[in-house]
Order: sequence, then structure tokens, then C-alpha cells
Amino acid sequence: MIEIKPIEELNAQGKKVVIAGPCSAESEAQLLETASQLSQMGIKIFRAGIWKPRTRPNTFEGIGELGLKWLKRVKEETGMKCVIEVANPYHVEKALENGIDILWLGARTTASPFAMQDIALSLKGTDIPVLVKNPINPDIELWIGALERLSLAGINRVAAIHRGFSTYGDTTYRNTPIWEIAAELHNRIPELPVLCDPSHIGGSRELILPIAETALSRNYAGLFVEVHNNPDIALSDSNQQITPATLQTILNNLKINL
Ligand code: PEP
Ligand code: MN
Repeated sequence: MIEIKPIEELNAQGKKVVIAGPCSAESEAQLLETASQLSQMGIKIFRAGIWKPRTRPNTFEGIGELGLKWLKRVKEETGMKCVIEVANPYHVEKALENGIDILWLGARTTASPFAMQDIALSLKGTDIPVLVKNPINPDIELWIGALERLSLAGINRVAAIHRGFSTYGDTTYRNTPIWEIAAELHNRIPELPVLCDPSHIGGSRELILPIAETALSRNYAGLFVEVHNNPDIALSDSNQQITPATLQTILNNLKINL
């Protein structure tokens, strides 16, 4: 039995929550520019990865701790809450020290019980909200297991993010959505908010809108979207990042008023 407590930051009077920001923090200027455009649109929670779990080495693996200083400026200048990915207890310690408001756990982390256990223990005694992505493999027990480890450590302000599942070979999606698994998660833990990450499901800009539409038709609590002030030159996940203006068009299409 997992006890779920509401995350006030996500519950804006029954409205859909939209969390947006770049795949990776790349420079202070990129973060401030992207965040100020998103903030003017009414987005209240800013995402950015500073430690990036890249599939292959010798690609951009994130700016690291320097990004925490930049995110402090984002908070000061826009008043937005900031969410970053953590994948080990050191990341947790640095995030907490630097006033990060919310944490997310990536798909590769949720898939690893050892990593999950270490992270859960490092969070003990804190009350920070944690967003838990589905594991890369379509195993609902692993997803629930990650939530249980957090719950056993007293972390109850949690939400889930459906970001699709790995498959082999060419598919329409970068990570195939399995709506039934997320629906089953909702059946088993009804109070748990579930967000959709159309960016990592789709892997391309054109797929963001149709995937988000499907998610909203299924009553998801909101969206977790990658947005960059200049997606074409992004250092990671360039193909799936959209500009703040494109996000606005998509939200208008979805009839989401922030
Ligand atoms: C991300 O959100 O940038 C990310 C690395 O996500 P995932 O764990 O879904 O691959
Ligand atoms: Mn990404």
C-alpha cells in the first residue's frame, strides 16, 4: 500500500499541469531565455537536465553542478519552480543544497532497484516532490517497486511520468507508449498523478501534439515537455525539442489554458 500525498505545485485548481524546459542545461543564457519565455506564457515549473544519462559516451553528458547556479538565477528572475533529474545520492545532495524544488527520476534509474534504493535512502527525512518516469522496459512492477521504495523512505509527494518503452528496430515512436500500462498504474494507485512526456515518446517535433492529445483524452494530469529557445542547435535531443512559441501553439490546440 503506497500512501500518496498531493504535490501542491502540480495541483492548480484542477487544471492540467505543464512542466517545460530544455532536455539539457547548456548555458546560463539558454536557460534564462527559455525560462523567461515559458514564464511569460504562464508555465510555472521549469525542467532542465544537468547530469544526462546518454546512451553513448563522447556525447554531451550534461553541464553538471554549474547548472545549479544557473537554475538559481532562473528561480530568482522568473519565480518558477525548478525540476532536475537525479540518478544517485550525490545528485540528490547537490539538488537539495541548491534549492531545487522537485526531482525527477529517469527511465534508466527506475529500472534499477539498487539505484532506486540508494536514492530513496538519500531522500529520507526530506519532503521534496519526486516525479518517477516509467522504467525503459514495460514492467509495471518495476515502476511500482520504485514508488514503493520511495514510500518506504517516507517520500509520499510523488507523481509518475509515462515516457514510453524501448523496442528494437524502426518504429513510429522513439519510445513506444503503452497506454494500458499507465492505465493499470492508475487503477492500482488511483491517487497517483500521471503525467505524459510526449517528447521522449515521440522523439520528433511533429509527434508532440498527437501524443499529448491522446494523453489528455485519457485524463492525464498534465505534460512534461522538452522546450529549447533554439532547438536546432540543442546539444541533446535536438529533434524532439520545440520552441516556446511552438509549445504555445500546441497548448492552444489542446485547449490548455495555463
Ligand atoms: C530526459 O527527460 O531528458 C531524459 C533523459 O528522460 P528519460 O529518462 O525519459 O530518457
Ligand atoms: Mn531528453
